[in-house]
Amino acid sequence: MPASIIAPAVPVAAASISSEVRLAYVLQHFWQAYEPTSPVTIGVPGQQAQVEVAVADAGFFDQRQPYPPAPIWHEWQGREVPFFFGPAAGQPLLTLQSGRALVHADLVSAAFYLLSGWQEYFSEERDQHGRFPYAASVQHQYGFVDVPVVNCYFEVLRTAVEHVTGEQLRPRRWLGGAKWAAFVTHDVDSLFGSWKAPAKAALQQGRLLETFQIAMRSLAGVDAWNNLEAVQATARKHGAPSTFFMLGSTQKAANGTPNADYRVSAPGMQRRLRNLQASGAELSVHGSIGTATDAAKLRREKQLLPGTVSGNRFHYLSWEPRLTPGLVDAEGFGYDSTLGFPEHFGFRNSYCLPFQPFNFATGRACSFLEIPLNVMDATLHHPSYLQLAPQEILPALEPMLQEIERFGGVCTLLWHNDHFDPANTVTGPRQFAALMEYLRSRNVAFMTGQQIVNDQKPS
Ligand SMILES: [Zn+2]
Repeated sequence: MPASIIAPAVPVAAASISSEVRLAYVLQHFWQAYEPTSPVTIGVPGQQAQVEVAVADAGFFDQRQPYPPAPIWHEWQGREVPFFFGPAAGQPLLTLQSGRALVHADLVSAAFYLLSGWQEYFSEERDQHGRFPYAASVQHQYGFVDVPVVNCYFEVLRTAVEHVTGEQLRPRRWLGGAKWAAFVTHDVDSLFGSWKAPAKAALQQGRLLETFQIAMRSLAGVDAWNNLEAVQATARKHGAPSTFFMLGSTQKAANGTPNADYRVSAPGMQRRLRNLQASGAELSVHGSIGTATDAAKLRREKQLLPGTVSGNRFHYLSWEPRLTPGLVDAEGFGYDSTLGFPEHFGFRNSYCLPFQPFNFATGRACSFLEIPLNVMDATLHHPSYLQLAPQEILPALEPMLQEIERFGGVCTLLWHNDHFDPANTVTGPRQFAALMEYLRSRNVAFMTGQQIVNDQKPS
């Protein structure tokens, strides 16, 4: 468990969540994951459904415990997959009968538990930034952060549905018929900070003139991080549109956490942003510290961006599960892309497709789409996170990328603009290029957040 734990500032306010609500929430996502097929009924015992899914939660959802009993590992399509809520080891996952299928795994409970973020909502653990820590997650405890197990559960259900209909159930396709998609994003925290480390080093070595020159260049706007146009050109060279998440506040948070070192509302910046938009980039909100629990502040920051703005990602990946989903929904965002663990790449909700977060206060799915974040540059090499060498990055990420491709999901990549600084040789432009080349070689469809939202809408 992490060293510094603070209890969430927001109390639990969950509505009663019935088995019907859980079934509807899970099936809504199941049917979104595949192309339409002949009608088939999926239900629980007693409903006379063609596909019958066992119920084995033993009253777990009537209580307020963050963690269910340990999962049981079953082999599914040649791999070991953790199943929460049974069946017992050695029991089959499903039985196919004439015109019917019995699923012995309680896939509805297991999928609901992970997809809804139940553990985060009911856990009392938060880190020094108010975030649910990876160390407190079932993904960490049972070692499956890089496996989208909800997608595996859906594959079991898919087998049952295909048996009943006699038709193939195909995973949905992305832009241009691609099997999977990638969402290439850049959080813009700093445009004028590249001089600090070299200036400090020069100062420490007594090179005062050089220190002065470095600082003056940055003051004149010449800074290796003041590079949004170059970032866009680099991503485009690999075939991807860029999505920039722009911070709307320059004020430090109460605990000293910095926000932007640029003014998004400055006329020169607005001109630049409009130019980026005009040449194909997407602009989204990078909600500053505090906005994950402050609707009015988030709204003000959204209004600072030119044009139509659909998306958000919170700075520092701030997210208070007891408040933020309802707040993002109420502010009318089309999508959010905050939900990844800062400490580890992978799948925070164990799912590799965009999904509608569950609002525990109302007991319903949110309207906005969560495009889960899979990997950010800082996670890969950071004192508090992983310490991968440059040549270890792509091999470490490949199994996760293969999972997303296999299930036809979206790979969301966060490469901050400051990580395009050529001076960064660890998680810098070369590592970005290697990842982009991999994605392109696997025929991914590069899409903006808004394109993903449009694609996901039921036709
Ligand atoms: Zn940020």
